Amino acid sequence: MKSVLITGGSGLIGSAMKQIMDDYKLEFYCTFLNSKQCDLCNYSETLKIFSEFKPDIIIHLAACVGGLFKNMSDKVRMLEENVLINTHVVKAAHESGVQTLIGCLSTCIFPDQIENLNENIIHDGPPHFSNEGYAYAKRLMDIHCRVYRQSFNRNYFCIIPTNIYGPNDNFNLEDGHVIPSLIHKAYLSKQRNNFFEIRGSGKPLRQFIYSLDIAKLIFQLMEQKVSENIILSPSDQYSIKEVAEIINKHFENDIVFNNSFADGQYSKTTDNSKLKDLFNFEFTSLEQGISETIEWFKLNYDTLRK
Ligand code: NAP
Ligand code: GDP
Repeated sequence: MKSVLITGGSGLIGSAMKQIMDDYKLEFYCTFLNSKQCDLCNYSETLKIFSEFKPDIIIHLAACVGGLFKNMSDKVRMLEENVLINTHVVKAAHESGVQTLIGCLSTCIFPDQIENLNENIIHDGPPHFSNEGYAYAKRLMDIHCRVYRQSFNRNYFCIIPTNIYGPNDNFNLEDGHVIPSLIHKAYLSKQRNNFFEIRGSGKPLRQFIYSLDIAKLIFQLMEQKVSENIILSPSDQYSIKEVAEIINKHFENDIVFNNSFADGQYSKTTDNSKLKDLFNFEFTSLEQGISETIEWFKLNYDTLRK
């Protein structure tokens, strides 16, 4: 059995991995860390905890994360905190003798205005200006993993997920990603009997993955001993207007678009052929995933992140 240490264990993906880890308990013994147990901005704390655990595998999910509006308003923090956390995690993993580390990038970090984003073109042009702090911090981790592979034969590589949503997400109206923010807005609009406001034009295109799907894929990647960067995304893409309409089926508000807000990158359509060659994975449909997320949101409204 392999021991696995998961940073960001209290977050969206970490909670989903916790929920399904029993299905993989014969192969993997998982320990989940949050920021209270170890502040990854502090190198000595990070090295201490990695050296005590000495896991076979680290899955590094912890990050300063947010949607378009947090990326735009908090660029310095998105850069500095993520550079610090990632640098500490990758370096401390090596120093404590960990052979396998799976870092977490994002499809947000790809060059802007390029179609069919694949694993080989991450650095082939600047990212969209709206999230350059976050994007360059993540790009640096990709290079950091690469040089440890080259110089020390470490098995350090990254997953590249598209926009994720699900239970335990951050439903903050300003800082959250589009699906959790719009679920929260639709819920409040219903209660207050006013318009359901969608930011921007509704035209940008996005791909979405349900958090439980990404959790399963991470366990399957470990089972298959995959050791190269890989995009984790379904093939389907939706306009923001379509996403808002799917959410609104559960609330039936009147929708308005507020064009004074930014649209961000127009599209980030991925080429997921590497993933499709590896697994015959059946993704949860967006309708089903959103329905389960709204059910969880309503049940946990008083205590969830918002
Ligand atoms: P999340 O829900 O925002 O959770 C963030 C996690 O990071 C929490 O467990 C948090 O711990 C931990 N963390 C933050 N700062 C820390 C620090 N200084 N020290 C230790 N832990 C710290 O994140 P997520 O959405 O699950 O994202 C997981 C990974 O996927 C991230 O690397 C993110 O960049 C990437 N990603 C996310 C998306 C998306 O749509 N959400 C898309 C693509 C890629 P506390 O709970 O204790 O604060
Ligand atoms: P991105 O995929 O990294 O750009 O991040 P988001 O998940 O934040 O999605 C941003 C897209 O959704 C942009 O086109 C926004 O204009 C649109 N959007 C519409 N309403 C909202 C909202 O309330 N919050 C967020 N974050 N985005 C919204």
